Amino acid sequence: MDSYKTPLGEIKITVIGHASLLVEWNGKYIYSDPYSEAGDFSGREKADLILITHNHYDHYDESAWSKIVTDKTLFVVSQDVGKVSDRYVVLKNGESYNYEGLMIHAVHAYNVNRRNDAGELFHPRGVGNGYVLDFGGFRLYIAGDTEPIPEMRHVTNIDIAFLPKNLPYTMTDEEFVQVANTIRPKYLYPIHYFELDVAKLIGMLDTGITMIVNNK
Ligand code: ZN
Ligand code: ZN
Repeated sequence: MDSYKTPLGEIKITVIGHASLLVEWNGKYIYSDPYSEAGDFSGREKADLILITHNHYDHYDESAWSKIVTDKTLFVVSQDVGKVSDRYVVLKNGESYNYEGLMIHAVHAYNVNRRNDAGELFHPRGVGNGYVLDFGGFRLYIAGDTEPIPEMRHVTNIDIAFLPKNLPYTMTDEEFVQVANTIRPKYLYPIHYFELDVAKLIGMLDTGITMIVNNK
């Protein structure tokens, strides 16, 4: 777990595994893409807020939700996820939601090149979300399942970025580094990977970007 000071108070970040993240903020527990294959959720804190980036099984996992959801849990989801409980908000790319002062911005996340055997992009444009979480100016970027895309130019002033790295669904090592060096977060957490050559990646990153792995 890593702690950071923000204008809205301290946040504590845990990378649970795969794309599953936990952000603790002022006693609230915010999960992103909780996935039961990535960790055991039965002993974890109940969720105040759950963000879902898209409806693939490794991001949309009802068995993980069943361990952490209460009747007060709010879901913020992409349009392909839709209604998952009585308390939910759908954000399309470009839309925002104010969660008790935390601004949640849905941004683009999609493939440009990578397709399944039927020739369809794994992640078509305009369907899934990445999220920028703005804690009073301290900004987290949860990229979602994406390749490098032009809209990332508008993802600016990021303190912490969570970027996916794996094939065939998201990014190569080189694309991962390209995005990191474009966004220039202070802290970079690789997620969604099957293998990670830490020394190679650090060697390719611009100075000023600190990459963090294995922070459980
Ligand atoms: Zn996906
Ligand atoms: Zn995925």
